[in-house]
Amino acid sequence: MTTLQNEELWSNNSFVETTSLSEIKLKNRTIHMKHDEEMNYNCKKCNIIISAHNKDWHNYMCDKCFDNEYFIDNSVNCATLDRII
Ligand SMILES: [Zn+2]
Repeated sequence: MTTLQNEELWSNNSFVETTSLSEIKLKNRTIHMKHDEEMNYNCKKCNIIISAHNKDWHNYMCDKCFDNEYFIDNSVNCATLDRII
């Protein structure tokens, strides 16, 4: 029975503990922020102004680019910026 050994290996996985605590705290700060709070960043794709929330939780992308990246939808693109602004 090698499955028991595997389970032990995974239960001892220290991934959670090694994840930077300060990084988690930083991200917890922005997860409840609105999408238009602290608009101090730029989308890494289309360069539109994005919020701290988008920086941390949308992988440095505006909502549109994030959706395009992770939910392929060709009907939406960054040309529809005026909807956001
Ligand atoms: Zn964008």
